[in-house]
Amino acid sequence: MMAASLQLEEPWYVACVSFDPEKQQMDIWVKVRDHAVFACPRCGSQAKRYGYEPYERSWRHADCLFFPCYVHCQRPKVLCGKCGLQQVNASFERQNSRFTLMFEGYAMMILADIPRRKASRLLRCNEKSLASILSYWVNRAADKQDLSNVSKLALDETSKRRGHQYVTIAIDALEHKVIDVEDGRTKQAVAAVKVRLEQQGGSADNITAVTSDMSASFLPAVKEYFPQAEQVIDKFHVKQVLTKALDEVRKNEQGEVDDKKTLFQYRNRYFKVNPMSLLITRKPSANERRYRGIVGNHDVHKGLFRARDDAVQVAAGDGAPGVQLRHLIG
Ligand SMILES: [Zn+2]
Repeated sequence: MMAASLQLEEPWYVACVSFDPEKQQMDIWVKVRDHAVFACPRCGSQAKRYGYEPYERSWRHADCLFFPCYVHCQRPKVLCGKCGLQQVNASFERQNSRFTLMFEGYAMMILADIPRRKASRLLRCNEKSLASILSYWVNRAADKQDLSNVSKLALDETSKRRGHQYVTIAIDALEHKVIDVEDGRTKQAVAAVKVRLEQQGGSADNITAVTSDMSASFLPAVKEYFPQAEQVIDKFHVKQVLTKALDEVRKNEQGEVDDKKTLFQYRNRYFKVNPMSLLITRKPSANERRYRGIVGNHDVHKGLFRARDDAVQVAAGDGAPGVQLRHLIG
């Protein structure tokens, strides 16, 4: 079982397994047969074992019966006719990692669902090591992905950590897959997304649509680097602008109107209308007509038009009658 968990094959073998009650950990010692022959790590030709590396190394392995488990091995060297003395790596290790491949695989599975800090407690492994495991495998997967079929992109920004260190995330909008993450939320970040796309077999000319927010850096950058793409504004951001505009209206109204009670009554009745329905060009319902009447000339329209000016295609419906709020409730 131990050999299988390490994917050991002849001439490698498990020499000894023990449990240390004091340290509460399992230890596995792996060795190679004395007369073993290996493929030279550099040229691949057969070469005989020729001594060992000077020190025994240890790797953290997947837990065994909930006890932390460590693998110890003094790896062999080979003497190759062409390349000279070469270090042989074990099948269970990744170069420069202190963890076995099985541990890293398990950690990646946990990290897919759990934040790093919690995973660190669960795996009894410090966060820094988990971060380096994560970044190795994520980068490796990113470098291998084939982006030749990507035709629709979504760009968004998020903060890397608390504060204002932003990153730009590029998503394949059809596959719902993150294809790139770049530092910053500037024009250069969008340029870097294009470079990554083209490095991985994609083409900027194949991109027919790019969804993003209304940020002043994304929109011109998309136009420049993805000239064939139609620019689509993320509906979440449109909604955000509208909500903000409506909020302004509410505040302004409260400032203007003396008779707050009547104002709140009107609001209860008419603010239940979904603001988004105002943007639909169908024939408005009686309630909606009334609602438009109330807010007719008010800042909500200014807000809507501001949103449109920010490149949203806002169809504000047919013209509202323009009845002043204070006339209605006054
Ligand atoms: Zn060789």
